[in-house]
Amino acid sequence: MQVHGLKDRTQDLRKSLNDSLEGDIRDFLINEAELHTYDDLTKVNPVTPSTVLKCLQARYSAKVFYTHAGCTLVALNPFQPIPHLYSLDVMREYHTAPQPQEFKPHIFIVAEEAYRNVQGQVEPINQSLVVSGESGAGKTWTSRCLMKYYATVATSSQKCQDTVEKIERRVLDSNPVMEAFGNACTLRNSNSSRFGKYIQLQLNGSQLLVGASVQTYLLEKTRVAFQAPTERNFHIFYQMMKGATEKQRLEWMLPSEQDFAWLPHAEKTLEEDCLRETVEAMINLGIDERKRTQILAGLLQLGNVYFSPASEEAQPCFLQKAADLLQVPLDELQSCLTVRTLLAGKQSVLKPCSQSECGVRRDCLAKVIYAQLFDWLVTFINNSMCADSSMWCNFIGLLDVYGFECFLLNNLEQLCINYANEKLQQHFVAHYLKAQQEEYVTEGLQWSFIRYQDNQGCLDLIEGSPSSIFSLLNEECRLNRVSDAKQFRVRLQKELSDNTSISWDKLSKEPHFTVAHYAGNVSYQIEGMMEKNKDPVPPEIISVLQKSQDSLLHSLFADGDRESEGSRGHSKVVTVVSKFKNSLESLMKILHSTTPHYTRCIKPNPDCRPLTFKKEEVIAQLEACGIVETINISALYMFCAVFLSFCVPPRQAWMDALAEAELDDAEDFMENEASSVLPKLDPLLKERGSVQLSSIQEPVLVRGWPIGLAMASAPSVTVSLTATGFQRIMSMMACLKSPFRHGGYKVKTNQFDQGVASIRAQPRGSIKMHLQRSPLLYADMHPVHKTDVVTGFNQILTGRSHCFSTAVDALTKAN
Ligand code: ADP
Repeated sequence: MQVHGLKDRTQDLRKSLNDSLEGDIRDFLINEAELHTYDDLTKVNPVTPSTVLKCLQARYSAKVFYTHAGCTLVALNPFQPIPHLYSLDVMREYHTAPQPQEFKPHIFIVAEEAYRNVQGQVEPINQSLVVSGESGAGKTWTSRCLMKYYATVATSSQKCQDTVEKIERRVLDSNPVMEAFGNACTLRNSNSSRFGKYIQLQLNGSQLLVGASVQTYLLEKTRVAFQAPTERNFHIFYQMMKGATEKQRLEWMLPSEQDFAWLPHAEKTLEEDCLRETVEAMINLGIDERKRTQILAGLLQLGNVYFSPASEEAQPCFLQKAADLLQVPLDELQSCLTVRTLLAGKQSVLKPCSQSECGVRRDCLAKVIYAQLFDWLVTFINNSMCADSSMWCNFIGLLDVYGFECFLLNNLEQLCINYANEKLQQHFVAHYLKAQQEEYVTEGLQWSFIRYQDNQGCLDLIEGSPSSIFSLLNEECRLNRVSDAKQFRVRLQKELSDNTSISWDKLSKEPHFTVAHYAGNVSYQIEGMMEKNKDPVPPEIISVLQKSQDSLLHSLFADGDRESEGSRGHSKVVTVVSKFKNSLESLMKILHSTTPHYTRCIKPNPDCRPLTFKKEEVIAQLEACGIVETINISALYMFCAVFLSFCVPPRQAWMDALAEAELDDAEDFMENEASSVLPKLDPLLKERGSVQLSSIQEPVLVRGWPIGLAMASAPSVTVSLTATGFQRIMSMMACLKSPFRHGGYKVKTNQFDQGVASIRAQPRGSIKMHLQRSPLLYADMHPVHKTDVVTGFNQILTGRSHCFSTAVDALTKAN
């Protein structure tokens, strides 16, 4: 519906608001003592980057680390233990609360909301908790917290206790093991995950945790053989070096005084260096840790092997130790590192490798072993905790992804990581921002678009077809020629220069390209990129590993050439980017089929210092992840809604028209189905399908009522929803904020195929819910009767009285 004149009026209003903006900011900032009490950034008034930042800073100083930002939870990293915040008692409080959303913002609210959504059994039932943020922001911590929460609450005190406890233990044990093998100390974070993971917590029909599985993404295996100047290798190596007993030192050939090239900064003491915890967890999971660690010790020895140009002989002592620990024949190990076999027709010719080629082969050997070992661990963990598919019906997925990365030198790994972040950002934008704005347009609201960053252009650049960075990289691999970085740069320029997301620094001598990511520009070096994409494993290396006497190592490579170059490079090489793209696509499919919950972890200072808040750091992260836009849209929407709902005549005709358009078309439904069970309603309410909050005092059966009515009754009824077909049902559930008990009342709305579009506060305090496809969680509050006032569902609406009066004032002025 077109609301004539609304646009002009809104513009006048906005102008007037702008005029008073500075005053507002002053007022807002003066009220410093109150700042930390804002638990939702959308309540900050006016919403500007500086007010939002001030609010977060005040909360951080008051040691309040979680804040809502509309539909997203912002988690500021305290960089110091806050034990009381995560105790079992706190978990139970959030779990048993009738309205946990009324408690202080907490990661447990997100956890509980997702859990109740599964209990409510409304589509999409399965949930995804997406935890994002840059390295060191607190993603791993948050994921751990979420897992502990579910391991605690999704258990039964009665039967199946043993199974549940076993799974719970395994889920928790899988963490230290995967962190030991997959995390490392980086420039930005001493415990940075160097892989992405999606943990699926499997729940049975009674919402008990009966199993779990882990899917991992793109382990940064190059770290095994190469660590940037101030960085370290994976934790497990340091754990072994520091935690080995004398007996283990002998077995692993790790004398404490020995230096290892692949073990830089071993003098640094980190709490992650604890071998005992990893070993205990491995034993609990049933992993024979002795064998695995022996293979890793072999890799450390390998790192000390270097090749001299003259003899091309490797260091015999380290090579010998590596061969012993990996249990492969020494001479074959030596030759696979130093000699390549070329096929000339049917003949094979042996050709000595250059010094640098030998180094590449050594690194390749270490990487392929480590990567296979990591995959094996993940499979083992999955086998030990994954429930049979007949045992579970729903899941809560937990996505812990590496954050956006930008280093001095960026390579294929960073391109893939940043590509994953682009994909997730797009999902977020599509889910919460784009859909909402489009919804306003279909609703007929004259809506002034907030410019959010649509990153489709950047994604097209990276993964699109027919021409994109990935497609060109893959083509280069297929051509199977010696890669030339300069040539490739020219190619990129020729094929992709139409895309505005790519650029080149003309002054730079190194071949590179710069991508304008949503979170900032990143320059990628081309040198080495094609080789990394091919990720070739010389077949000689595979065949040596197949001869290992170590049963695990042997089995990892037993089934042939899957990791090798195959028939001399003419093979159908599945490139790194293709593999990554495929696995990311399947992840996105899962995300799209679940109800997402976003938690944005923020790193308040770059040095990981406790309770230190650097504004520039924080605002850059808020902007990079779209939080500022989210808040803006929510706030502007609220402004619009307030404007529409509270403005008084003469503006009446279009208010009526608008109300008409918003009606939930309830009559036929009520007549056909529900009339017999409904209490007597005010005829006006019946006609309009909305109610005044005060009209129903007693608990009532609300089956078949318009949702507005159900909402109005929410304080006194227990509501469960059977509204299948609602794509955005989570909005409604969050609005209702009611416990969903089996056998409780059922609400069936008459708008199955549309969903919840908006909640409107009507004049005189009645609440109206408009059902359409909309993704937003508008409502923060269940209705509360106070003695003198009735507050609506949406605290933002009712709480922004300042905005109302400004709106009315401005309107009066405009008229
Ligand atoms: P990320 O996974 O995002 O790279 P981490 O989860 O490893 O970051 O967090 C970095 C460090 O910050 C951790 O070592 C942890 O000690 C600390 N940290 C993160 N979140 C919290 C929290 N909520 N309370 C206390 N310390 C935290």
